[in-house]
Amino acid sequence: MRNIHNWPLWHWHIEISSKCTLECPRCPRSLVPESLVQTELDLNFFKKTFTPELLQQEVMKITFCGDDGDSIYAKDFLNVINYIKHHNKNIQIIIVTNGSYKTSTWWNKLASTLNHNDHVHFSIDGFDQKSNEKYRINSNWKSMMIGLDIMCNNSETFVTWDSIAFKFNENKLNLMKKLAKNIGCDYWQLTLSSQFGSKYSHYNTNGYDEFEPEDKSLIAGNHRFDRQIYNLTNRQYTHNYIQHNKNLYTDIKNKYNEAPHVPLCLIGNKGLYINSKGKFFPCCWVAQRFDHQESYWTSSEFDLRNNTLNEVLNSDKWTELFDSLLTNNSFFECGLKCTSKVVDSNYATSW
Ligand code: SF4
Ligand code: SF4
Repeated sequence: MRNIHNWPLWHWHIEISSKCTLECPRCPRSLVPESLVQTELDLNFFKKTFTPELLQQEVMKITFCGDDGDSIYAKDFLNVINYIKHHNKNIQIIIVTNGSYKTSTWWNKLASTLNHNDHVHFSIDGFDQKSNEKYRINSNWKSMMIGLDIMCNNSETFVTWDSIAFKFNENKLNLMKKLAKNIGCDYWQLTLSSQFGSKYSHYNTNGYDEFEPEDKSLIAGNHRFDRQIYNLTNRQYTHNYIQHNKNLYTDIKNKYNEAPHVPLCLIGNKGLYINSKGKFFPCCWVAQRFDHQESYWTSSEFDLRNNTLNEVLNSDKWTELFDSLLTNNSFFECGLKCTSKVVDSNYATSW
């Protein structure tokens, strides 16, 4: 594969579907519903974009998680996972899902296709139907627990129960961790979000933010998020790519030594992003459908439905992006997320 900008082709982050049955209030699909297009990528798109050669020679990890949607609702999702594993069973597949409304037959098919290289994250912020649907609106506890049980107990795959700290669960964090252990999860992960009224005033509807924890130590200290990860079993997930990231971070840090940014998109910890319309972006942050990004990302030349991967990745447009990162005159999200003030070795090497 021609790769004149040295994109880290080893990790891809794919929004296979912009569909979801839920309405989480801080999800882009709820925040900017006007421009949401419900669509998905099919098996033919994957066959055309991710050739057997690319899967066997370059790709080490594929993360399925969307800005706007949940992967499990893509019609071809199981076929796509089968296709990837058929060509390279060692590729690490990461799936982030709310886990609602799929049958035990569907989960068993997924369980039999994934292996010990893979990891499924269930996003569960409650401890029963009533508490979970306070934020995960329209979620379905019963079907989530069926999926969680099958993935924990009928597959080699690693499973994490992911919780975000909110006001409604801040006194029940230990209970969720205990439930995760009891059902057989390998990890419980607590995410400290920054998406609260004390950091972004537009979340203060009615003068306050109903979701913001009272315990301020449960809010992220930066503009991204903080994570606490607890191992619940004697199995340890192997992050094959950590050393790879560290080496790339050192190279990129040296190259951008005097610049105000350290572009994570050249390292790969976040993954090169393809959205559900088949458009390529350097990361999921710059793909979000917020007004301040629209003018940069309307170009049709990044559309993988009409251009080859070779054409998109080797476009001259990317030289402009990286030149702009050497000055202060860069995209808003890059200035926030990849400023050298926040990017250190840990930030640049974890997901
Ligand atoms: S489950 Fe994920 S994709 Fe669906 S509404 Fe919630 S955050 Fe958005
Ligand atoms: S925010 Fe900008 S510099 Fe950072 S990973 Fe995304 S595109 Fe690259």
